[in-house]
Order: sequence, then structure tokens, then C-alpha cells
Amino acid sequence: MPTPISSRQPAKISWTGGQKSKPTPLNSEWRCTRCDKLLGVCRDGRMHLRFARGHEYFVGFPVQATCRGCGTLNQAQSPAR
Ligand SMILES: [Zn+2]
Repeated sequence: MPTPISSRQPAKISWTGGQKSKPTPLNSEWRCTRCDKLLGVCRDGRMHLRFARGHEYFVGFPVQATCRGCGTLNQAQSPAR
């Protein structure tokens, strides 16, 4: 019975910091399209919304939120990547 040597390949992953294709994969800011005010932060596939007086929400996509600054209704279809 032959031994399958090629089935067990060594890991060729090097964490030397050479690849910087995704600078912020899990924490991307969601800002107003008009006044650039911070509306929420995308965390691990969901949007983290934070309002005044400590009200916070974790919502899934698509998500809509009204800007506190200019009142523009913003919508995010999917997590930014
Ligand atoms: Zn705004």
C-alpha cells in the first residue's frame, strides 16, 4: 500500500506583514454620504450602531440609519470589504 506523501502539504502561510490587501477587514467605519459623520462600525459581518445616551444596536444587512448631523437617510447593502 503506497503512502500518499503529497496529501499532507506543509502550511505555506507567512505572517511577515507583507500582504496588506485588507487593512481593516472586520472594523470598517460607515459614514454619512453627505456630511461624512460616523454612523456605525461594521464588525464581523454586522453593523454596530451607536446613538446618544448609550443606545447601541447590532443589526444585519441591509441597514438604514438617519444621520444625526444632517438627517440624510443612509443605507448600507453589505459589509464593506
Ligand atoms: Zn450626515
